[in-house]
Order: sequence, then structure tokens, then C-alpha cells
Amino acid sequence: MSALHQMPRGQRMAVRLRLYRKQEGCCALCGEIMLIEVAGVQSLMPRFATIDHITERRNGGSDKNTNLRLTCKKCNEGRDQT
Ligand SMILES: [Zn+2]
Repeated sequence: MSALHQMPRGQRMAVRLRLYRKQEGCCALCGEIMLIEVAGVQSLMPRFATIDHITERRNGGSDKNTNLRLTCKKCNEGRDQT
């Protein structure tokens, strides 16, 4: 199983799009509508959709879809600081 960050860019975007549709564009944590941008231009926006591991990889979490969700950049960064 390949790590998420080693995925080809297109494959990673496909995962992001699938999660985005499943969550109807809402952040899994704050529920705000997230932005998604194929070209990566929006990646500096606080509400940009980022792939989050429900169980952190360092805690044994996998890259399977069941362990992935989309959160906005703001929430994801907040989580990392804790
Ligand atoms: Zn959020």
C-alpha cells in the first residue's frame, strides 16, 4: 500500500474529489463549505479542502478511504498544533 503523499498528483486529487462529493463539500470538523481547486491556486485559502487521516498515520492509521476525510485547511492545521 502506497502512502498518500507518494500518490501521483492526479490520484490524490481523485481521492479528494471523491471525499468532497461524499461530504457534500462540507468540512468534517466545522461543517463549513470548503473550496476545492484542481490547479492548486486556492491552497492558501483557510477553507481549502485538505485530506485528513481520522487516525493519524503515526498512530497506525492507514491510507484507506475509511480512514480519510476532508477538512478545511484551517481545521487541519489547528489539529496539527495539538
Ligand atoms: Zn473546518
